[in-house]
Amino acid sequence: MGIINDIELTEYFSLLEFECPCCRRVMLSPDLFARLNHLRMVINRPIYINSGYRCKEENHRVGGVSGSYHLLGMAVDIHVKDFLLYDLLLYAHEIDFTGIGFYEKKNFLHLDIRPGPKHTWKGNK
Ligand SMILES: [Zn+2]
Ligand SMILES: [Zn+2]
Repeated sequence: MGIINDIELTEYFSLLEFECPCCRRVMLSPDLFARLNHLRMVINRPIYINSGYRCKEENHRVGGVSGSYHLLGMAVDIHVKDFLLYDLLLYAHEIDFTGIGFYEKKNFLHLDIRPGPKHTWKGNK
């Protein structure tokens, strides 16, 4: 018997990478996932998922906001080795993620597909 969620979704990502670390539950928006694969193809480098789906408890534990799109499977935090975070931000803009958080100190981007106008912010975490 294989490990739960151990499913290759594409050649780039397994469902395992998106599960909640505390309970292994997972939700993943196809729209978010399509954009993430697009980004992966464009930059042609591995994308590491720091945080994908979060249950309420996990979101609280990591200090996420209460309406976080991580709770809906509509957000990921990512990093890419040896790649300028600012360049990654420019690609993410082109691919039309609608929520983009730029976390320079910890070297990651938050990406989501919230409805409505595009929102970009600079995090201080
Ligand atoms: Zn959990
Ligand atoms: Zn996030």
